[in-house]
Amino acid sequence: MPAAFFSALDHLECSRTGEVSDPDVVQGTSAVGAPLLARYDLERVRATVTREEIAGRAPDLWRYHELLPVRDARHVVSLGEGMTPMLDLPRYGASVGVPGLRMKDEGLIPTGSFKARGAAVGVSRAAELGVTGIAMPTNGNAGAAWSVYAARAGMRSLIAMPVDAPEITRTECVVSGAELYLVDGLIGDAGKLVAAAVAEREGYQEVSTLKEPYRLEGKKTMGYEIAEQLGWRAPDVILYPTGGGVGIIGIHKALLEMRELGWLTGDLPRLVAVQATGCAPIVDAFERGDRESVAAVDARTVAFGITVPKALGDFLVLDAVRETEGTAIAVSDEELLAAQAAVARAEGAFICPEGAACFAAVERLRASGWLRGDENVVVLNTGSGLKYPETVPVDVPTLPVHGRIPARRGDATA
Ligand SMILES: *Cc1c(COP(=O)(O)O)cnc(C)c1O
Repeated sequence: MPAAFFSALDHLECSRTGEVSDPDVVQGTSAVGAPLLARYDLERVRATVTREEIAGRAPDLWRYHELLPVRDARHVVSLGEGMTPMLDLPRYGASVGVPGLRMKDEGLIPTGSFKARGAAVGVSRAAELGVTGIAMPTNGNAGAAWSVYAARAGMRSLIAMPVDAPEITRTECVVSGAELYLVDGLIGDAGKLVAAAVAEREGYQEVSTLKEPYRLEGKKTMGYEIAEQLGWRAPDVILYPTGGGVGIIGIHKALLEMRELGWLTGDLPRLVAVQATGCAPIVDAFERGDRESVAAVDARTVAFGITVPKALGDFLVLDAVRETEGTAIAVSDEELLAAQAAVARAEGAFICPEGAACFAAVERLRASGWLRGDENVVVLNTGSGLKYPETVPVDVPTLPVHGRIPARRGDATA
């Protein structure tokens, strides 16, 4: 019997040049400034771990620990993240002509957004490597997640976010003791301020999107869970609201790892990168046939988490989409808000505007024939609608105490 092990992490690899680097020291990007990808000894995993064994483990993302970077279980910083529900959407699915539509609901995870996955694994590994403070620019949810996990790890956190980011995410940072700054600009502007501050501080690691290797590893677990929850079968199509792209790059990475492990057979699902028309650099690059995006100007959408004018990993998103014969599509704020309301009314799920963008995309792709009516389709709802109360206009009557509720109000319930 081979000895038990917690992680099969083997080395880091530059996503552009393939250059190998040491995973057991703090690393940022590669020598050419590209994201680093964690590589595992998959032979060893295949020889020692079975899918049945994983099924018997606790229902959180650490059930895939051999394929995660934390070497010692004692360094795991957890708030119970992972194994989010996979919901059938029979009524909404039928209404848009895709009865096999499902939603993986990342609203039900600590901090109410899937950013918790990246933070749990990223903070755990940073703590293991001796980092004492993390610093990042954020559109809100990532900063909230990294702040609470940093608190749980006894680590400091320095966060900068645009003033327009969802207000609740400020509160989450402050309550967990983060050093928070608001910036009158976009996430890129916040990033410049953070990079300059980190250069002057001891013990802080900059953990911006794809500028350290392990957030991606946390987010890829969405891919493992989708396969496991569908009985180790991949769906036909997965739609993902794409900002920095870590989620879709991670799901693609997980799919390739599972195929190499023999855990998945057959074609990979077609991956769809969904953006908002107000900020769609990756969709534009896809349509031009380019492997790199051009920074979006005047970026603006209510789907704030995907307001990323230029992603460091844009080429990895485009590779994932093209290699799986997927597509990239942009929807308007009007369409995504309509989808948010339609999903809530048909299924009782209050989804975030980013997730709603994917539902609007399902409608469009079905109408164009790109999606067939008999396909199994999974939409990632990346966060809870509870974090975005301002997206739903609430226009209801206030009654006097001794007033009377009318027999019927025509508008709301049709
Ligand atoms: C950050 C975020 C996204 C985009 O995630 P990436 O992996 O960076 O593309 C989507 N939805 C929500 C709710 C987010 O917070």
